[in-house]
Amino acid sequence: MALSPATVDTDEINGTAAGRVGGLAHSSSRCPPLATQRPVSAADVAGSGFAERVVAWQRVNGRHELPWQQTRDPYHVWLSEIMLQQTQVRSVIPYYQRFRARFPTLEALAAAPLASVLEAWSGLGYYARARNLHRCAQTIVSRHGGEFPGDPQITARLPGIGRSTAAAIGVFAFGCRAAILDGNVRRVLARCFAVDGSASPAVDRRRLWALAESLLPTTEIEAYSQGLMDLGATLCVHRQPACDRCPLASLCAARQQGRQAALPVPVTRKPLPERRERVIVLTDGRQVLLERRPASGIWGGLLSLPELAGGSVEALAQRNGCRLLVTSELPSIRHRFTHFRLALAVVRADVEIIARSAGEHRWQWLPLERVGEAALPAPIKRLLLSLRPPPAAIARSAMAAADRADH
Ligand code: SF4
Repeated sequence: MALSPATVDTDEINGTAAGRVGGLAHSSSRCPPLATQRPVSAADVAGSGFAERVVAWQRVNGRHELPWQQTRDPYHVWLSEIMLQQTQVRSVIPYYQRFRARFPTLEALAAAPLASVLEAWSGLGYYARARNLHRCAQTIVSRHGGEFPGDPQITARLPGIGRSTAAAIGVFAFGCRAAILDGNVRRVLARCFAVDGSASPAVDRRRLWALAESLLPTTEIEAYSQGLMDLGATLCVHRQPACDRCPLASLCAARQQGRQAALPVPVTRKPLPERRERVIVLTDGRQVLLERRPASGIWGGLLSLPELAGGSVEALAQRNGCRLLVTSELPSIRHRFTHFRLALAVVRADVEIIARSAGEHRWQWLPLERVGEAALPAPIKRLLLSLRPPPAAIARSAMAAADRADH
């Protein structure tokens, strides 16, 4: 599959972070002055008490006890921000704790093999985040002497860190006065200030960034930033926002106009081209053959099903020390990336393993009962999980294999 390294699995697009603000003091202040742009609705913003309302609400109703709220270490703040993209707080907590235990410092993460990082990430999904985390740690060690830059404009140039994540790291690790504009904050601002879409998504983004910057308070930046994210995550939700409990209700233009459901205006997407490939589930009923993908490109560094680009199933089986028994078609897999849709035809090849080939490092037999913990692309993992036989069948298959080996 010839895939562009610039293409991103849509499962892996950055989303939103949540849950911070503790009572810790910032250990350093390395923040640049904010280059404030002209606000979109200066008249609406001035004197509205917007920031004060958000801060007061956050103090009482926001989240304060999450593990990443008990630290100002930029490594830990960054790790939590990346994990929280597209993933619920509840799911992130055990991963965050295990990841910190396994890679206690940024240097330890940078020195670890990518496969080990992907393995620790396994189950969180959206593996581009883990690959970028690893590359970013190596970049900070090699170019910044292992010190996380405090300036969000510098941080935003590091692998896997966009403008909003850089601002979040700046705010929560260094106390910088920087605007966050993740999906939750965007929804709150678009509704509160009735920001309609124009013909240009780029213009709309610039307008919202300018608005976000114009609203920043001069103090309590951390409670304010966390409050906006908490509001978007808990009250100003996508469907049926809880306007009656919202501290911004009396200011909110969308509420006054009854347009909560229409804002923010959804971005219209062009239809994507489709690519078709064929993959093989080569299995003896207990294990499945996987191939490690190249480090760059789609699903880079992950184990995945081998592709059948021009070769035959029989040749693949022989090359891996197997005798082909029978093949069958499985339901195809459809998956969406940023630049195309992928349609994978899936062939199941039941085999008998004759001899373990010395094999190249990139090939690996994975026991089916370990599929859940392996670093696999989400759609491949879903497929393999659906193929897992019940434990009793695995035990019978293992005994049959042992009998064959005895004869
Ligand atoms: S009043 Fe409703 S729509 Fe407006 S910001 Fe609050 S929750 Fe969102």
